[in-house]
Amino acid sequence: SSYTYPSCISTDTSCLFGQEDRCTHLKVLVLGAVGVGKSSIVTQFMSSEYMNTYDVSQDDELEKTIFLLLDGEEYELTLFDYHTLATLTDPEEDSMGSADAYVVVYSMTDRGTFEIAMDILFVLRERGYTATRAVILVGNKSDLVRSRTVSTNEAKTIAISYECNFMETSAAINHKTDDLLVRIVSQVRLKIQQLKD
Ligand code: GDP
Ligand code: MG
Repeated sequence: SSYTYPSCISTDTSCLFGQEDRCTHLKVLVLGAVGVGKSSIVTQFMSSEYMNTYDVSQDDELEKTIFLLLDGEEYELTLFDYHTLATLTDPEEDSMGSADAYVVVYSMTDRGTFEIAMDILFVLRERGYTATRAVILVGNKSDLVRSRTVSTNEAKTIAISYECNFMETSAAINHKTDDLLVRIVSQVRLKIQQLKD
């Protein structure tokens, strides 16, 4: 197909581990309803044992950059966690289509946020992104066991029907957030490989 990865395989001189020419730059959108824990997840990424962190935004919180070395490969991830379903569907907003990975977060304690996550997955699938990009459905707040209203099986079933990946996390107790970070990169690598084949 004529599809090309929009921001992969570009180089960036700010890569920390030297060898700037070997750094893969990935753009990651963290999507979901207000209050599901998007910013909390990104904050956990910033303090993960896996990486050097580098906050390009300083005062505002529009954009976070992290560097990560995984299986000898160096990655620079730029994370955006402020987009909404409205910006996703806005034809004027072209930045939404240029991401390498989409992380769609809901709170497992709030069914309304799960429904919003499904709306977002619907749009991503309509645009063909679930076939060509890394898309991960994330049920956050797994620490709130007694308030759970979305079961693991139900969410897994939805993830299968939208052809995306699925994980449950707790940003509050830092459970599975490192795994999510690694999953984002490995899913991008998988999609690149599938597009080559
Ligand atoms: P955002 O609007 O999606 O960016 O959500 P925030 O990251 O601002 O989180 C909204 C609220 O949920 C805050 O009070 C967080 O402390 C809380 N929160 C985020 N993640 C978790 C989690 O995994 N467990 C619990 N119990 N609270 C969380
Ligand atoms: Mg936020």
